[in-house]
Amino acid sequence: MANRAPTFSLQRVTFLSVSLVLCVQVGWWINVQIRESGRLLHARAEALNASRAEAWQMDSLSVLNAIHANPDPSSRVGSVEGRFAALPSFEQRRAAIQQRFPHVAVLSRPLSPDDPALLDGAAFLSLRPEPMIELQDQRWHAVLRAATEGAFMVIAVLSGFVLLYRKLAEELDLKLRQRNFTSAVTHELKTPIASLRVWTETLFTRTLPEEQRARIHGLMERDLDRLNELVGNLLDVARAESGSLVLHQAPLELQPWLRGVCEAMDLRLGQGALGLKLEFDSKPLWVNADPKALGTVVENLLSNAFKYASEPRATTVTLDGDGDDVLIVVSDLGHGLSPKDLPRVFHRFFRVGDEMTRQVAGTGLGLFLVKEIVTRHGGEVRAASRGAGLGATFTVRLPRLAPPAEEPATEPADA
Ligand code: ADP
Repeated sequence: MANRAPTFSLQRVTFLSVSLVLCVQVGWWINVQIRESGRLLHARAEALNASRAEAWQMDSLSVLNAIHANPDPSSRVGSVEGRFAALPSFEQRRAAIQQRFPHVAVLSRPLSPDDPALLDGAAFLSLRPEPMIELQDQRWHAVLRAATEGAFMVIAVLSGFVLLYRKLAEELDLKLRQRNFTSAVTHELKTPIASLRVWTETLFTRTLPEEQRARIHGLMERDLDRLNELVGNLLDVARAESGSLVLHQAPLELQPWLRGVCEAMDLRLGQGALGLKLEFDSKPLWVNADPKALGTVVENLLSNAFKYASEPRATTVTLDGDGDDVLIVVSDLGHGLSPKDLPRVFHRFFRVGDEMTRQVAGTGLGLFLVKEIVTRHGGEVRAASRGAGLGATFTVRLPRLAPPAEEPATEPADA
C-alpha cells in the first residue's frame, strides 16, 4: 500500500536505531566488566607481589636483628657461608616465611627475573604459580559471565522489541485497513444509492416505453442486490466478531445444493459472465452445514472470481471427497495473488493494493467472513495462487457426513 511505506520505514528505522543503541550499550557494559575484572586481577597480583616483598622484609629484619644482637662477628655461628653463626637457621627462616605467607615459595633458584634474593643470598622468594592461575581462571569466568549475561540481555530485550514491533505493525496495519474499509464502504454505499436515485427519478418523471422500464427495473434490482449483499456481509461480520453468528446446521447433500447456488450466482452476475464450469464427484457428498451461511461462502468466492478476473473469465467449481473430508474448490484464471498477500487475504479489511488505485469495489470483509463461517463448520479454507496474473484457487475443506440412512419404504396396507 502506497501510504504504508513511510510509516513502516519510520518504524523500521526506530527499531534499528534502538537495537543499535542497545547493542552499543551492552557492548560497553561487557567492556566495563572485562576491564573491571582485569583491574581486579591486577590488584590481586599486586597484593601477591606485596606479600612477597613483605616476606622479604620480614626475613631481612630477622637477619638484621640477629646481627644487631650479636655485634661481635666472632660469636656469630651457623650462618650461611659461615659468616653469621648466631643467625636463625635457614630452615627456621623458611618455615617462618611459609607460615606467614603461604603464597610465597623459598627456592634456591628464582622462578622469574623479578624474584628477590634473601638479604644473605641464602635463597630466592618466588610467588607460587597456583594463586595466579586461579586468578586468571576467575578472570576468564568473569569475562564469560559478563559476555553471557550481555548476550542474554540483548536477546531478551531484542525479542521484546520484536514482539512490540510486530504488535505495533499489526495494529498500524489494522488501523490502515480500517481506514481503507471506511472509504470503501462509503463508496460501496454511495454508488448504488446514487444510481437508485437516478433510476427512481427517471421512472417517476418520464414516460418510458415498457422495454426501457424493464431494463431500469433490472438495473435497480442489481443495485439493491449489491446493497443487500453489503449490509448482509457487514451484519454477519459484526455477528461473527461478537460471537453471535448462529448457525442452523443440518445434513446437506452438496451436489444439488452447490449446483443451485453456483447457477443462481452466475445468473446474478450476468449469465455466462463467470465462464462457470462445474466438476462434481458423482458420489453423493454430505456435510453438516447451515445452507445459508455456506451459501455466503460460495457466493463470496464466486463474486471474487468475477471481480478479480478480466473477461473472458474461466471459473471452475470442483466438489470432491477427500478421506473424511469434502473439498469445495473455486478457481479462476484472474489477477491471482502474490505470495506475500496470500496469508493476509483472510484478514479483516485486507485488500490487495492501494485504495486509490484499486479499480474493483469491495470492503475486504468477504474472505474474512468465508474463513469465520468455514471455521465455525469445523473446516478450513486455504488460498493458493501461482502468482500475480496467474489466477487464484480457494479450497474449502469441510468434515464429511455419512449419508443419512434411507427411510424404509412403507408397506402398502393390506386391503
Ligand atoms: P473484497 O473483495 O471486498 O475486497 P475480500 O475479503 O473478498 O474483500 O477479498 C480480500 C482481497 O483479496 C481482495 O481485495 C482482493 O485483493 C483479494 N482477492 C480475493 N479473491 C481474489 C481472487 N479470486 N483473485 C485475486 N485476488 C483476490
